[in-house]
Amino acid sequence: MAKYKVRPEFAPGATIIVEVYPVPREGTVDVTFLSTFRGIMQHWDGKKPRACPGEQECGKEHFKWQTCWKGFASAERWRPGQYQDWAPIALEVTESLREVLKGHELRGTVWRLSRRLGRSGKSECWGEQIAEVDPDLVPLPFDIEPAVCKVYKTTRIEWDAEPSIPAKVLLVASRRAGPPATAPGATPGLAAMTEQEQEADRERSRKILEEHKRRRANPPAPIDSIARIT
Ligand SMILES: [Zn+2]
Repeated sequence: MAKYKVRPEFAPGATIIVEVYPVPREGTVDVTFLSTFRGIMQHWDGKKPRACPGEQECGKEHFKWQTCWKGFASAERWRPGQYQDWAPIALEVTESLREVLKGHELRGTVWRLSRRLGRSGKSECWGEQIAEVDPDLVPLPFDIEPAVCKVYKTTRIEWDAEPSIPAKVLLVASRRAGPPATAPGATPGLAAMTEQEQEADRERSRKILEEHKRRRANPPAPIDSIARIT
């Protein structure tokens, strides 16, 4: 998608055309969700992103092209400064933002969204819920399809697609006593070896060490001396 160019704002009080709004590359944006998001599959054909019309219509390209998931939600973004209002947007939800949002009852919740450096070394969308509004006090959800169709320049889009890659497994490192301390130079896991295995291991180490010493004492002949012999 990535229509990141800064476009002029709709004036305060003016009628607003609902457009796809990606999380900005820099800074943060505060949004109120009016609905949950709906997903599509997006292909990258090497030149531009394409909305997937469905596996059937896509044909074999469907599996050839790089594919990612994109979601869109009817939402409002806070316009600070002279505006001081909540402007309607079709909020773009990336795969990483989806991971943050999933499981939440989104309608009426206010989130601060931004991008941060992800594991891939690229920027990833991130967000945290900062407030909650009574769902009865926010506008009704609106249709986000026209805004999405405009971006991809097509109406042939298969809606409500699920990501093809399973959700990330998120865990926290365990905090408990560490493994027994190991003597310097000892083979890890030595304690688990039998006396016989330990002796065999020491013997292996001795042989390797001797081999190293032997090689250092008798370095291989330089190339030119070999040439003289032959
Ligand atoms: Zn496809």
